[in-house]
Amino acid sequence: MRSKLFSRKLAFIVTLAYFAAGFLWITLSDLVVATLHLPETERTLVEIVKGDIFIALSSLAVYFVIHRLIRISNETSAQKHLARQDPLTHLLNRSGWTEASITALRRQERGEATVVLIDVSQLRYINGAFGMAAGDFILRYVADHIRHHLGPHDILGRNDASRFALFLPGNPEQDIERLFEDLSRTSHHPVQLGLHRFRFSFAMGISRAPRDATSILELLTLATIALDQAKLYPDRHLAYYNPTEAKNTLAALRLETDLGLALERHEFIVHFQPILSLPGLQLLSVESLVRWQHPALGLIPPDTFIRTAERIGLIHELGRFVLTESIRNLMRLQIPALVRPSLAINLSALQFAHRDLLQSIEDTLEETGFPPDRLSVEITESTFMNDPEQGRKILNRLHEMGISSALDDFGTGYSSLAYLQELPVQALKIDRSLIKPLPSQEPSRRIVRALIDLAHSLELRVIAEGIERREELEALENAGCDAVQGFLFSRPLPPSALSEWILNQNDNLEGSA
Ligand code: C2E
Ligand code: CA
Ligand code: CA
Repeated sequence: MRSKLFSRKLAFIVTLAYFAAGFLWITLSDLVVATLHLPETERTLVEIVKGDIFIALSSLAVYFVIHRLIRISNETSAQKHLARQDPLTHLLNRSGWTEASITALRRQERGEATVVLIDVSQLRYINGAFGMAAGDFILRYVADHIRHHLGPHDILGRNDASRFALFLPGNPEQDIERLFEDLSRTSHHPVQLGLHRFRFSFAMGISRAPRDATSILELLTLATIALDQAKLYPDRHLAYYNPTEAKNTLAALRLETDLGLALERHEFIVHFQPILSLPGLQLLSVESLVRWQHPALGLIPPDTFIRTAERIGLIHELGRFVLTESIRNLMRLQIPALVRPSLAINLSALQFAHRDLLQSIEDTLEETGFPPDRLSVEITESTFMNDPEQGRKILNRLHEMGISSALDDFGTGYSSLAYLQELPVQALKIDRSLIKPLPSQEPSRRIVRALIDLAHSLELRVIAEGIERREELEALENAGCDAVQGFLFSRPLPPSALSEWILNQNDNLEGSA
């Protein structure tokens, strides 16, 4: 608005100056010529020359003014162009892309268009591990690949440090699929830059007008939500915006953000579930089960957050916390030394594979003075899927340190019996899915009995978990099971309730003796 007023004023001043100069020139020069009293022919000649001088001077002035105006206008449009361009990829930057897409969307018949966000997932990692040049290289490389797919009316821009935005007229699902497949193929080949070789991975989030939204800014927001959704998918990182899934994704992301802070906010707690001997039902050990005390959502069970903790790289710190916290709590229990239970902790496959695992356990045992022969770790078969040889090495090393191990959740997954003899574990935990049918189904009783016999022949102790009914306990006792755990005896308890439970149980046993 201000510049419009300014240019009008300038035009008025220039015109007025031209008019005044012309008026003064004609009037004054005519007066001078009149005072000279020249003969008719000479006067005409002087007037012609005077007119020519005026035309020549004013042409020169017009030339300078127009020249200057063109220069100013060129500079402004070059500045505008630079302000709309991303210097690294030479694509439109965020504001350039948004402006161009808003205009393009207005031109669409029926307002049909698609916004695709493409995120280069490990850019931060690549920048950190191989340097910024490597990150820049990957961005240009991906940008070039996307460029190959562009139609004449598609608009590509760099929306963010690691993110490209693509505006497509209409809803061309097949084109998007082709682009996705091409990028997937490309991402499978390592890129060579100097001495380094690395691969990139990416995710794609898509929103569509007019079904999802009718403005570019809204479409961008919804494509961002779809992108977050896409990243949560295990293998194919592509998602179209979907309002129901978006709700879950937002909840999951909120949980993810909160989870990142939960450790420093001291929101994790451990509960203990007793494991009892069979026969006799004496307390042998307790299994430590972590919980998250969320300030708004209450107590969250581990199945809800362990996988997320693995994905965001929190699991190792969480594991260290669980071990230290469990040991501290057990050592603080106000109970007679004779009934002190051993401790079992769970290790996820990722925790087990971490190169610092052994050192971290060793350090914690040393710091707390907890005897290693009172510690056992529970792992599942999936822990060995990737690298069985390495898994065996770690179990053997733990055994040398005095720490025993148990194979958890037996009866779920593959549960191969042949596999059992290859694993250097000392105990087998039978999952509730095999326990539940025991009272009613004879075949399942035979299977469990055979399983226990086999485990014994391999010198493995057998612990049955998830026992809820007395009949399940009786069947297990008949089958020769070594230990039991389940709601029938106790739910997982906070440390304060555990000491009470132990003292009660001790009294009961003494009373019945
Ligand atoms: P899990 O190791 O199989 O632990 C036993 C689960 O069964 C526990 O669930 C326990 O509360 C539940 N349970 C115990 N007795 C009964 C019963 O009689 N009936 C039924 N229906 N369930 C029973 P929870 O505490 O929700 O833990 C779930 C899983 O989370 C655990 O399964 C374990 O794999 C994992 N987990 C727990 N704490 C940790 C931890 O500190 N680190 C890791 N990596 N994983 C953990
Ligand atoms: Ca367990
Ligand atoms: Ca289990």
